[in-house]
Parts: sequence; C-alpha cells; structure tokens
Amino acid sequence: MLATPERVHESDWTEVVVWHKPVQPEQCHGECDFHALACSSVEGIVLPGPNQDVPLDLDRPGERWCTDCLAIINAARTTEQ
Ligand SMILES: [Zn+2]
Ligand SMILES: [Zn+2]
Repeated sequence: MLATPERVHESDWTEVVVWHKPVQPEQCHGECDFHALACSSVEGIVLPGPNQDVPLDLDRPGERWCTDCLAIINAARTTEQ
C-alpha cells in the first residue's frame, strides 16, 4: 500500500514514522511541497518524504500506520470484496 511518511514525536520524544494514505498519489512527482492525506481534509504533510510501498501488516520498530488512514484502507478493501 502506497503511503506517505510523517515524522512525529511520541510523548517521550522518541521519533517515530507514521504512515498515511496519500490522496491523489498519481500526482506525486517526488518533490512535492505538500501531500494531502486520506485521514484529514484540511491537514497534510508539508515537505513530505517520498511515498513508499508499506505493508499493511507493518511490523518495523519506530514505524506505524496512522490509525485513521488504516481504517479508511480497510473499509475500502472490505467494500471491494
Ligand atoms: Zn492518516
Ligand atoms: Zn509527492
């Protein structure tokens, strides 16, 4: 699943990467100033890292899916079946 990374600090200030579902990823040219996110109609990521293919069962230390984006992805997958 194509995803946009967001670097966030947890409450103990460890940095983690949160992956979001990008909106209109086909418009991504790799040097975007902004990525709109499926989980928010108003917020997005400024100066995002490049989109990457991320497994839905992501199991890497310091990385996780945005729970809202994951719910949207799962809802879409359920509808498709
Ligand atoms: Zn999200
Ligand atoms: Zn982009």
